[in-house]
Amino acid sequence: MPPIKIGIVGLGKIARDQHLPALAANPDFDLVAVASRNASQEGVASFATLEEMLEAMPELDAVSLCTPPTVRYGQARQALRAGKHVMLEKPPGATLSEVEDLAQLAESSPGSLFATWHSRYAPAVEPARQWLASRRIRKVHIEWKEDVRVWHPGQRWIWEPGGMGVFDPAINALSIVTAILPRRFFLHEGTLQFPENCQAPIAANLYFSDSQDTPITADLDFLQTGPQTWDIHIETDEGNLALRKGGSQMFVDDQLEHEAPEQEYPGLYARFAELVARRESDVDVAPLRHVADAFLLGRRETVAAFHDEG
Ligand code: NAP
Repeated sequence: MPPIKIGIVGLGKIARDQHLPALAANPDFDLVAVASRNASQEGVASFATLEEMLEAMPELDAVSLCTPPTVRYGQARQALRAGKHVMLEKPPGATLSEVEDLAQLAESSPGSLFATWHSRYAPAVEPARQWLASRRIRKVHIEWKEDVRVWHPGQRWIWEPGGMGVFDPAINALSIVTAILPRRFFLHEGTLQFPENCQAPIAANLYFSDSQDTPITADLDFLQTGPQTWDIHIETDEGNLALRKGGSQMFVDDQLEHEAPEQEYPGLYARFAELVARRESDVDVAPLRHVADAFLLGRRETVAAFHDEG
């Protein structure tokens, strides 16, 4: 198979930090173009918009959309209609309805659609799923706390409607728990804290349970300075599991059982190559559904204004 000719759309933080290196290291892909209004990439054709890129480069096989979620639906639809394979950064869209519409469009299109959840490719996630499969889960607690000023410097879109605020990182935790817990779970109540000058929450507390009344709680914060916390604690009838550092370490009863170098984006592109070869799609909206539920059911509190400069 010749390499898949791919273009990146939205050359921002995640495209530069992860997509460019992952593509450079994967012989199944050939990065031939970039579409970004304010950025270009040396050595590849650069365009201001996806539309211009699609028109100028009919030989393109695939696009990887690294823009904010609110513009992704329009771009994905355009690329699928042009017959391209499409990879979506997380969250796959601003609403459930538009992602479901894309999944349907992909069914009747020649291109594959891949809604990625990069945290599911963290090295300890699959070992954790296997460890939990044979045990009875008693309690789950998610602690996802990071500093928005470090990870999203100057990104206004994250505070706008559809930007999701603290759920932009927290959806990664939800992507992990929806992959490793054996049963579906549901939101019962929650509190979302909105800065008085923002349209998206900066912190949240959520309480879920499953059909066996297992308590599942989440403590989410976007203002954590110092050490960052991306941890999931799970009590079972045969010991306690902790996934730490965003799923890169697995502890059982405080003993480190599994740790490996971070390979999330190489894992995503390996999966995308597989989907393209098979002409299949992979679209799971479960993590986005929990975020939508939090906005539907959560109690809203107004807190102090957020300013990027602190
Ligand atoms: P970002 O730095 O703001 O980059 C996104 C890029 O998309 C921008 O640089 C901008 O490039 C383009 N863009 C922004 N608004 C647009 C609009 N209205 N229309 C068209 N293009 C627009 O954001 P990011 O951190 O890379 O995040 C992008 C996505 O990746 C988000 O969904 C996020 O959840 C996900 N992600 C981020 C991280 C992270 O650590 N930051 C980690 C994993 C996943 P131009 O101005 O040049 O067009």
